[in-house]
Amino acid sequence: MAKNKKTKNWHIQIDKGIVSAADLRTAFEKRNIKKPPKFYKDIKSVSNVFPMRISPYTFKLCLGSKAIRRQFIPDKKELIITRKTDKDPLNEDVMMPVKNLIHIYPDRVLLLATDMCFSFCRFCTRKRLGRKYTKISPANLEKVCRYIAENKQIRDVIISGGDPLTLDDSDLKRILEKINKIKNVKTIRIGTRAPLSCPSRITDQLIKMLKNFHPLYVNVHFNHPDEFTPGSVKTLKKMSSAGIILGNQSVLLKGINDSESTMKELFYKCLDSGVRPYYLYQCDEVLGTEHFWTDYQKIFKIANELIGNIGGLAVPNFVFDCKNGQGKIRVVPDFIERRDEKSITFKNFKNKTYTYRNLNK
Ligand SMILES: *Cc1c(COP(=O)(O)O)cnc(C)c1O
Ligand code: SF4
Repeated sequence: MAKNKKTKNWHIQIDKGIVSAADLRTAFEKRNIKKPPKFYKDIKSVSNVFPMRISPYTFKLCLGSKAIRRQFIPDKKELIITRKTDKDPLNEDVMMPVKNLIHIYPDRVLLLATDMCFSFCRFCTRKRLGRKYTKISPANLEKVCRYIAENKQIRDVIISGGDPLTLDDSDLKRILEKINKIKNVKTIRIGTRAPLSCPSRITDQLIKMLKNFHPLYVNVHFNHPDEFTPGSVKTLKKMSSAGIILGNQSVLLKGINDSESTMKELFYKCLDSGVRPYYLYQCDEVLGTEHFWTDYQKIFKIANELIGNIGGLAVPNFVFDCKNGQGKIRVVPDFIERRDEKSITFKNFKNKTYTYRNLNK
């Protein structure tokens, strides 16, 4: 089938992806940016261990923002490993009852539709994936759907990866249709970073297709206010005005977004584009990501500063994802001053107290 111009356009973002030190050199030199040979040597040694991919669109954003650059350009710190950890700390590969499907929680599952992304985030939880642009095979999709249909407590399916929007419309449609047909499935979600890393992927044609699956929940991934470029804002508004329900998942990254003021601005910007902040994750203990880890106190500090001070719609859930496939833990700062059988006393964001007393029965 002949590809129309728009379709072709987004494929370029993958076909012309920057995947090696040599590609990166070419990209910089095209813009008259000179880096010392040591820089490219480091890039090479890191990308030999942890694959690199930066879409041409993302590369442009990298030039304009340090916060974006640090998320995508390999750093030799990735090779400094002081704590023995795991390529798969969440034990996802073990929690797969069938290939491509992670089942940790009772009523919801996560489908790994592909191992490909438009650009690879250096802190990715699934850094271990092969990144060979493989997609779920029709036979495995059948098996996955059979498993979901047989386990009737499953009502929510998250299509993830990799980035499922790296799949063509026809592949994505096939997956959505198959899942949508399962009677016990009531909610479908898609996780994608395309609005940041490849906005051209969100074509009118794609939106038209996605609209057929309403209510469809799409979780995007914005980590820093700089990422709200005219291109991503336009794309997000296009999606939300088409009735797609947008949420945002962020990762707390040392030196990039680990301050209350950055987070506040990030969450406000989400809301301004029609995106509800959903999760802020503590960075997972994935091999090669230590330089992004923050002390555990930081997420509490941010939560403490935001809750009550900014509108509730702008506040996400704060979560740690447990090692060994035990799932997410939501944390909240301690707003409880004391409690006993009869009453509970809270301390609010202004340090004022309030006591609630049970009825005397
Ligand atoms: C995060 C996650 C989900 C979804 O959890 P919610 O808290 O409902 O967003 C489901 N399965 C896996 C494996 C996950 O990591
Ligand atoms: S877009 Fe998501 S899956 Fe892809 S590299 Fe980034 S965090 Fe990982």
